[in-house]
Amino acid sequence: MDVLVYSARPYDEAFLDSANAGRHTLTFTRASLDAQTAPLAREFPAICIFVDDKATAEVIARLATGRTRLITLRSTGFNNVDLAAAARHGLDVRRVSRYSPYSVAEHAVALIQTLNRKTHRAYNRTREYNFLLDGLMGFDLHGKTVGIVGTGKIGEVLARIMTGFGCQVIAYDIAENPSCLALGVQYLPLEELLAQADIVSLHVPLFPETYHMINRETLAKTKRGQIIINTSRGGLIDTMALVEALRSGQIGAAGLDVYEEEDGLYYRDLSSDLVRDEVFSLLISFPNVIVTGHQAFFTREALQTIAATTIQNITDFEEGRASENVLRPQG
Ligand code: NAD
Repeated sequence: MDVLVYSARPYDEAFLDSANAGRHTLTFTRASLDAQTAPLAREFPAICIFVDDKATAEVIARLATGRTRLITLRSTGFNNVDLAAAARHGLDVRRVSRYSPYSVAEHAVALIQTLNRKTHRAYNRTREYNFLLDGLMGFDLHGKTVGIVGTGKIGEVLARIMTGFGCQVIAYDIAENPSCLALGVQYLPLEELLAQADIVSLHVPLFPETYHMINRETLAKTKRGQIIINTSRGGLIDTMALVEALRSGQIGAAGLDVYEEEDGLYYRDLSSDLVRDEVFSLLISFPNVIVTGHQAFFTREALQTIAATTIQNITDFEEGRASENVLRPQG
């Protein structure tokens, strides 16, 4: 099958080519999918997209005027695809519903421990022969309370890791995960979790119901000085409200792998450009904020699985096979 792979970086090409082994004809473009670049797919029955490609209703309508019948995502999250529009136009949408949940959970731990033990500041200091410890004091994770919002595949792995550190793990989810209950995780309403946790990590998908679940009101109810980690989707947090909470000390530190305005910013080298995102500039001005550019998934194991599943999704579609990776509109 002829597939146009949007937003392809060299590592995407390497992992997809290796998983494909000549089965399908893959054409790679650096271009992101949007209304302007949708016509590139005119002759391709399948396209493959990533998190910052936008399959909006308008884009899908354009794709449907060409040969495209399959959109396959190299991601778990699918908030960038208008599934109702895809269904209306008869386009099949598939995703990678599972890949190394360790990649994201372990990145959340990296952010927690960087913020806690201030290794980002120590790195800079020791390079300048500054060996003072002032300002670098952290705390033992052992005995602290970690609140996990969303105990699906990634949240469950994080619960296991934090239990290993000797933390008390509390959680909020619309559905309790039996494996987490067996670990001793206690489920609480969101407000109670925010009020009790020393560290909060977000692992729910971005849906209309979860959009800005961390906002001015909920931040006001958090335990003072809390560390907040977001490796899920930027839209879960009202960023300006977070900036205010950081300024007032209500939030002690933030580790953000995702940002609500990351489209057009992340996965690009803009170091020579004058980037005019004032909220982002504010965020990175805090010494107690770590921003990573949506890289939590970025491990060798995750990329291998993403590539293998993507190729399987294309083959399944070509051979008319259903799978758990097919996405349908909700409700
Ligand atoms: P999952 O589907 O296994 O788990 C999601 C959990 O959220 C489920 O337990 C579900 O019950 C819960 N949930 C859904 N709606 C909710 C609501 N309204 N309120 C409370 N809980 C709700 O997903 P996962 O594989 O653990 O991934 C979680 C998210 O992580 C993805 O949706 C994606 O956005 C994000 N993600 C980020 C990266 C990255 O590189 N930063 C990589 C992969 C996934």
